[in-house]
This record gives sequence, structure tokens and C-alpha cells, in this order.
Amino acid sequence: MQFNKFFVHKIKPDVFVLITDAGNWLQVSESELSEVNAGKPENELVKKLEEKKIILTDKNKESLTGDYKNLFNHLTHGISLHIVNPTMACNHSCHYCYANAPPVGTKNAAMSEKTAKKTVDFIWQSPMKNIVIEFQGGEPLTNFSIIQFIMDYAKTKRPKKNVHWRMVSNLSLMDETIASWCKKNSLLDICTSLDGPKEVHDKNRPMPGGSHAKVVHWINSLKNDFGFERIGTLCTVTKNSLPFAKEIVDQYLDLNLPDITPVAIRQIGRAKENWQNIGYKPEQYLEFWKSVLNQCIESTINKKQITEQFSLMIAQKLTSPKPAFHTCFSKPCGAGLMQASYQPDGSVYTCDEGKAEEIFKLGSVEQKYADVFASQSALNMVSISSSLGMICNECKWNPFCAFCPVMAYASQGSLVPLLYNNADCVIRKGQFSAVFEKLFSPEKKALSQWLGLSKAL
Ligand code: SF4
Ligand code: SF4
Repeated sequence: MQFNKFFVHKIKPDVFVLITDAGNWLQVSESELSEVNAGKPENELVKKLEEKKIILTDKNKESLTGDYKNLFNHLTHGISLHIVNPTMACNHSCHYCYANAPPVGTKNAAMSEKTAKKTVDFIWQSPMKNIVIEFQGGEPLTNFSIIQFIMDYAKTKRPKKNVHWRMVSNLSLMDETIASWCKKNSLLDICTSLDGPKEVHDKNRPMPGGSHAKVVHWINSLKNDFGFERIGTLCTVTKNSLPFAKEIVDQYLDLNLPDITPVAIRQIGRAKENWQNIGYKPEQYLEFWKSVLNQCIESTINKKQITEQFSLMIAQKLTSPKPAFHTCFSKPCGAGLMQASYQPDGSVYTCDEGKAEEIFKLGSVEQKYADVFASQSALNMVSISSSLGMICNECKWNPFCAFCPVMAYASQGSLVPLLYNNADCVIRKGQFSAVFEKLFSPEKKALSQWLGLSKAL
């Protein structure tokens, strides 16, 4: 009988969990923990420990190999998410914009047809048959003709690929002609930003004339008048948002949105210079996030289902052996492995957040695909985000966590996060611990519902 490496986390008095490197975990009592610590577990406990691969035997070694295969499954695939920025310019001036988007009309901010064609040709060298092409920016609708050009040109490419088209837009320039074109041409996956009610949204996302009314109108209209199945929404949380957790969730419920993703701002792009006005301590964000989570749980149990997306992702990691398939929740993360970002000038970056810092540039669409993604820079990124050899390796949350080298570099000037002072680390620790607690409380009913389980966890 050989013990695997494991961590211990206390949920409450007499309830502990033992967590392995591969993310398997087992609930034990204090007396069971003492047996484990003494290296002498009783028979019944041995069975449970073996099942969760905390004890390694000949019987479970194949299953453990399978767990690692699952965890690192994304290493065996090519890039599936290609983020194309038809422009860097935007008609908003959001205080937290990580792209630090310049105003519309800025010289060289928009992609030309020549670069668009080269970008599609470059993407077509990907070995993947099924890919996602996502238009971001800046505001992509300020250069809608290039989106049309790219989609038309992609249809002529051979061999054919199955492309899932997506656009992330503030929707302020959406109109009936564009909506109909998108519907007709299968640009059906549209995501936008909604930071809450008017007073929060318009303060975070300034635009002449206000942006809230337009985004609310188009969230409703795309669904109700044009038949889009769902409009994805991101809710960015600034210091201005902190007192309005209830109003923000109510806004999402009023619009019948199925989920809320309350994203913490980080010191990257324009948020760096505006940090004094919009920034906060990670603990303040955590308090806000817990309040949003509790309201979503309460609404799901007593009124209407609404999912808090971070806890759903964490609960998925905690309860399912399936890989995360989320670029920022995988380890190594998906930078240059699962996603890449293409700029209007043809440069290729690790991921969309990476475009905020020159160091994350991997190459250009003028080069060969393999030369860009097998470059030393791309391999370095995989190595760094694997967290191997870092303090993270000794953290109980490491099996579920993944840190972001882009955020570490932008906010701390170091590719390796300085953990004693790293906001993401504080937030992740708080979130993992909170979701674990929920799994051991009556509120797990809501989490089971979000996970689509027929029986409670
Ligand atoms: S570097 Fe950061 S933002 Fe980019 S894919 Fe990795 S975790 Fe996500
Ligand atoms: S980033 Fe923080 S929470 Fe995540 S594994 Fe590293 S030390 Fe743990």
C-alpha cells in the first residue's frame, strides 16, 4: 500500500477533504484523518482511499493514468479558438478596457482586406477541422465589412472546416441589417457586456449618449425579433459595482439571462491607469462575488434559475473527471495551445488578453503556422502556465487552479506570479474554498441543478 501525494482541507469541524494532485478528493472525519496521518487506515477506509487514488495499488493505476490523460487532454489537440480583431478601435471608452482601445478613426487601427485574407489563410493551416472564429476588438462592428469579407472568404477555402462563428460586441452599433446578415450567415453566437443596471453600466462603460439602453434593447431584440437562441453576457466588476450586487443580479433576472459571469478587473490595459478610481482589493471582489453567488443560489432554489458561472466551472472541476475545456481554467492554460489572437496588423498573440503586452506576441500571419505555435516563445508560455516547479505545486488548490501569466506580467511585471501579493491567487483561493463549502451545505441543491444533475450531489 503506497500513499499518493495529497493535500488536506478542512471544511468544518470533523469534516475534511483529502485532495490528490489529479484532483480526486475524499471526505473524511477527524478520526479517519488521524488514521491516514498515522499511515494505518482501517479496511473500509482503505477501500475509499483506493477508489479516490489516495492510496495507489495495481488495481487503480490504470484509472490514475486515465485521470492524467483527461487533465492534459488539451495538449493533444490543436488550437480551436481563433480570436480575430477586425479593429483595435472602439466607440466606447470603458475604464477597464484591457485592449486599451483607441477611438474610432485612429490611423492603422482597422484590419485591411489583405491582412484579413492572410489571417484566414493562416488559420486554415491549423490541423483542427472544427474551429471557433471569434471577432473581438476594439468594437468589431466598427469594421463590420471586414467581418463580412472574412466570412465570405472562409467559405471559399478548401479543405472545408466546420467553423463556429462568434462575435463579442458592445452592440451599440447593431442594427436590423446587421442582425439579419448575422442570422443569415450563421454568425449566431453573440456575446456582449452588461455590467448591471444603467447607473452601474454607464459609469463603467462610457459612451456619448449612454450605452445601457442600447445593449438592453439588442439583448432582447436579437432573441425575440431575430430568433438568436441566447446572447452571452459578461459582467465586469469595478469599484463602482461593489455596492450593487443585488441590483446587478436583479438586472440579469429581469432580462431572463440564464447566467452571470462577474469578472474581476485586473491591472491590465486601461485599468492600470484608472486603478485609483476603479480598482479594489481582491478581498473586496470576493465579498461581492459571494453575495452574487448567494443570490443566484437563493433565486435558483426559490424562484428562477440563474447560474453563477465561476462557481459552476469550479463545481464542474470538483465533481467531474471531464477536462475543463476552458482556456483560462486549463493547466497549462490555453495560451497558444487552445487559443490565439490575431491583430489588425497581422501579428499573432498567445490569447486575447495577451495582446495587451508585446511580450506575448508569438509571430505574424506572414509566417508558417507551425513556426509560430512551435516557436520558443509559445513553448515557454506552455511551460510557465503549467506551474511546474512553482510554489503553486505545494498548494492544495493547485489540482483545480490555473494562474494567468498575462495578468501576472501586466500587474506585477513578472511572468511568474508573486504569490504573496497576487490578486488572482487570493481570489481563486477564496472561490475554491467557498464552492467546496457549498458542496457540503443544503445549497448544493442549486449547484446540482446548475450542473444539470438529476440527483443532488
Ligand atoms: S495567459 Fe491568461 S488570459 Fe491567456 S489563456 Fe492563459 S490564463 Fe487565459
Ligand atoms: S495561484 Fe494560488 S491558489 Fe492557485 S495554485 Fe497557485 S498558490 Fe494555489
